[in-house]
Amino acid sequence: MRASRNVAVGLEIRGSRTTVALIDERGKVRMRGEAKTLRGRPAMATLEPCERALEEALTYARSEGWVVQGIGVSLPGTLDCTRHRPLLIPSLPSLNDFPLLELFRQRYDMPVCLFDDMEAALLGEQRFGSGRDAQRLLYLSVNAVVGASLIVDGQITEHGCSQYMGHICHISVSAGGPRCSCGKRGCINTMVSLDAMQKMVQRAIRRGDEGKLITRLLNREAFSPRLLAEEAENGDSVALQIYNEMGRWLSNAVTRYVELFDPHIFILGGDILCTSPALMASVRGAANADMGSGARVQSMVKVVPGLLGRDAALLGSVVPLF
Ligand SMILES: [Zn+2]
Repeated sequence: MRASRNVAVGLEIRGSRTTVALIDERGKVRMRGEAKTLRGRPAMATLEPCERALEEALTYARSEGWVVQGIGVSLPGTLDCTRHRPLLIPSLPSLNDFPLLELFRQRYDMPVCLFDDMEAALLGEQRFGSGRDAQRLLYLSVNAVVGASLIVDGQITEHGCSQYMGHICHISVSAGGPRCSCGKRGCINTMVSLDAMQKMVQRAIRRGDEGKLITRLLNREAFSPRLLAEEAENGDSVALQIYNEMGRWLSNAVTRYVELFDPHIFILGGDILCTSPALMASVRGAANADMGSGARVQSMVKVVPGLLGRDAALLGSVVPLF
């Protein structure tokens, strides 16, 4: 049988760069390009380099004889209820309420779909990654903030229209935690985030803890999840303490999510977890121990790392086009 010539264009728009890729029906990337996202500019100017990369991808597809089924876009923020427009894109505010879907449909005359990056990543893992064939699938992603999304019977459940109400990443894991933008205290996305990690480091410095991580920071190296991961792999005690604390909050959240949503598969992904095998192992270990001891959960759930790594949202954005 002849192999399918169908591909779709995936566009993962992020705060400072956009990835454009031609993706085939099996989730294989056939061509990949990068473009700058021009932040702090009006929407059309912000998107201009991405559109050029998109047009190059379309030209390349035609030259190779591929049939482009449509364009899938993943955005780092929330969409309005109809999923036709970006609602709140914190890193690219000029895209808020911008008619991106209509613009692309008119300009390229093909189907276009729009997702927030959490939904896209979940769809990607379900079609091409570690969630294949699961009916109830929960995805928790740890990036600069924590996000979560849920698929039941093949459908992404509505997050609710409001920016905060009912959004499942606002699950409280610590009654005494800091106040979240949603008004509650101790939401998982305030306990585990880039900001929270930095606070943990500052507490260690104030306690007078020592080690390579602290030395590097005192020598003015910028804090980043990668730096933390590096030092944790080297066995730095402060980095490992921070992982321990994050691991505890995350596994606490995993247990709460399982109680509430009873997923068959629970996928852990996102930049911070993907770059930190030690943290991934600590969360999975703690979560599995919780479940194992668990009168609290009804059924067994598999807690697994995402298979697609950083490409989850890119690949997921094209799923409905095939
Ligand atoms: Zn919250």
